[in-house]
Amino acid sequence: MASVSSKELYEFKKTLKELANKRGRGTELVSVYIPPTKQLSDVGKHMRDEMGQSANIKSKQTRKNVQSAIAVILESIKLYRQPPENGLVLFVGMIPKGGPGTEKMEKYILEPPEPVQTYWYKCNNEFFVEPLEYMIEEHDVYGVAVIDRNEATYGTLKGKRENILGHLTSGVPGKHKAGGQSQRRFDRVIEDLAHQFLKRIGDHMNEAYLPLKDDLKGIILGGPGFTKKDFYDGDYLQYELKDKVISIVDTSYTGEEGIREVITKSADDLENLDVMHEKKLVQRFIKELIKTKGLASYGEDEVRRNLTMGAVDVLLLSEDLGSMRKKFTCSGCGNEEFITVKSQAEADNLHKKCPNCGENLKESGSVDLDDEFVELAEEMNTDVEFISTETEEGMQIFRAFGGIAAILRYYVDY
Ligand SMILES: [Zn+2]
Repeated sequence: MASVSSKELYEFKKTLKELANKRGRGTELVSVYIPPTKQLSDVGKHMRDEMGQSANIKSKQTRKNVQSAIAVILESIKLYRQPPENGLVLFVGMIPKGGPGTEKMEKYILEPPEPVQTYWYKCNNEFFVEPLEYMIEEHDVYGVAVIDRNEATYGTLKGKRENILGHLTSGVPGKHKAGGQSQRRFDRVIEDLAHQFLKRIGDHMNEAYLPLKDDLKGIILGGPGFTKKDFYDGDYLQYELKDKVISIVDTSYTGEEGIREVITKSADDLENLDVMHEKKLVQRFIKELIKTKGLASYGEDEVRRNLTMGAVDVLLLSEDLGSMRKKFTCSGCGNEEFITVKSQAEADNLHKKCPNCGENLKESGSVDLDDEFVELAEEMNTDVEFISTETEEGMQIFRAFGGIAAILRYYVDY
């Protein structure tokens, strides 16, 4: 899979949000999802079929609009010999700008960050963005392993997709009753075989997971019986991987069925993990903040200054910041002033005078404040973490620090 930067993802999310809010006058907005393996000639044939079908649409306006949308799609796919690496997603339709008669044809052609899995054609009064939303929601990868004394299965979980990476069997014989001296020797042999098996599991899992280390958000171990616990306690996993183990759950099954059982049983843990990640970040920020010469900074102006200097390691931005960065230009001397406002109404009511010549300042540009910060962060290789307002810590960033905070790379003195 092509990896996507946080900025690309952020922009993709933003586009999706805009698309999700668009409404057609009738059921006339067309969405088409084309997997990378799909023949475009088949898509073309299907579009022509749909064009024929649309003759049955009762409303003359809707019929006309659906047909124009399909025509645009046919034109658009002609530009490709085959779908791009991850396939193609098209959203086409007449979007009203105001009252009747203000509709304008809009066309969006997206190359998604991950392969399109299923071919879709949908015609509705809104665009069908759910598969794309699902695609960007599921970027976290977890390791999942099910271990008992007889077998071990390990794989990854990405969103709702599981991927089995390996399966091992132990060949350790079951309990044997010999009695006396030979029983003890036999027990020792079995113990040794069990240890060998755990070591083999560890080696295989290390080999499979270490290359994914930076993407793995956590590892969950499961299985019936005590072996999974012995495996965890025995340091068979490389220490960085062991640190990532977030829970150990009991299952009734082993193998792939056991993996699915672990996933079902861990759903809450996985959801909490996002919350934990956020809490930890905010706590790290607060810890730095209360130190003398701590590596923390907050507030729009201060963080912007630190970002521009390249001093920010992690930028914490509240989701739905809502503010806008406005550029005002003086009609007299051309002087430019930048002012942050919470709403357009606030900008309209500013009536600022130029500090140089006293003429009126006129709005001459606008950018969302979070866009500006994400852009600055990208230039300086700063990680951006969006903080929800659903946790107490997240709320703190929003309320007490104006939704903009930073963990610094080095101490900055003013
Ligand atoms: Zn002026």
